[in-house]
Amino acid sequence: MSETFSGRQGCRLCPRNCGDKVSASGIGICGVPRDLMIARAALHFWEEPCISGSRGSGAVFFSGCSMHCVFCQNSDISGNLDDITGKVISRERLTEIFWELREKGANNINLVTPDQYLPDVAWAVRKAKDEGFDLPFLMNCSGYEKVESIKALEGLIDIYLPDFKYMDPEVAARYSSAPDYPEVAKAAIAEMVRQCPVQEFAPETDFSKKNIDISHETEENGSSCTSVDEDERTALIKKGVIVRNLLLPGNVMNSREVVKYLYNTYGDSITLSLMSQYTPMPGIEKRFPELSRRVRVSEYRKVVDYAIRLGVTNAFIQDREVAKESFIPSFNYEGVERQ
Ligand code: SF4
Repeated sequence: MSETFSGRQGCRLCPRNCGDKVSASGIGICGVPRDLMIARAALHFWEEPCISGSRGSGAVFFSGCSMHCVFCQNSDISGNLDDITGKVISRERLTEIFWELREKGANNINLVTPDQYLPDVAWAVRKAKDEGFDLPFLMNCSGYEKVESIKALEGLIDIYLPDFKYMDPEVAARYSSAPDYPEVAKAAIAEMVRQCPVQEFAPETDFSKKNIDISHETEENGSSCTSVDEDERTALIKKGVIVRNLLLPGNVMNSREVVKYLYNTYGDSITLSLMSQYTPMPGIEKRFPELSRRVRVSEYRKVVDYAIRLGVTNAFIQDREVAKESFIPSFNYEGVERQ
């Protein structure tokens, strides 16, 4: 861990509001100091097709997370408060990383769980835009964000990719110690949709690869998402909101309630991404035995059928069980240091 951190005393960046209870070492519930820490900055091919395309999304994985979901799939960088993978970088370096990812061919800049660093991240994004940066910025987050934090990103973020994990406060309390999650996420997503009310798409501009069969490409790299709207399968999203829900074993009702709320509130102005890729992480069976298996095809089918019955037509659906640990990238500091 860096010796340069300034601590998070007084921090109220996220709904945990834990700034007055940070540890003696100056670290809050998010598990990281205030200095920017990232674990990987590289092309990422495992997002929805309209985000990854064939060239990949420029994903910057930030260290730390205020959610600490018991089933976290990225626990190397977010789960262990005392031993989180990450290197401290300056905000100027973060802007450089955006440009380097663009140079590598990224379709967009994908800020993965940046919540605990939002002031510095906003500074770096603004600097890049002032320098003429022309790729969309995407905020890939838990949905557990304060409205004022999202408001502060207006004009900086082009695409919001929040989770909506729980509609049931008891499930939210059990798996994320966040019984307020449903209400917090509803308000955060409302602000995201206010900023990006209309989805905009454009063809991928790497014409040298335009003949690649996207469905085949995604099958090979583990992401077999397909859009219900065939016409938009190969288009890249430039602006809008995509809301993800990861179905957990035994939690069909929770996911159905999420789908119902989102569709009844936003209709097809947002895209839903219904995910079945849950992978039990080692040791989870000790405290949460119900989460020690993968999601059954029949469970996922119930959620998808429900969405179709409701009338949802704008959704990504994983058309077979795709739970593979290969979805989890290697947090090896790729792209962190100047090249
Ligand atoms: S960002 Fe971290 S320190 Fe700040 S309120 Fe959230 S959990 Fe606490």
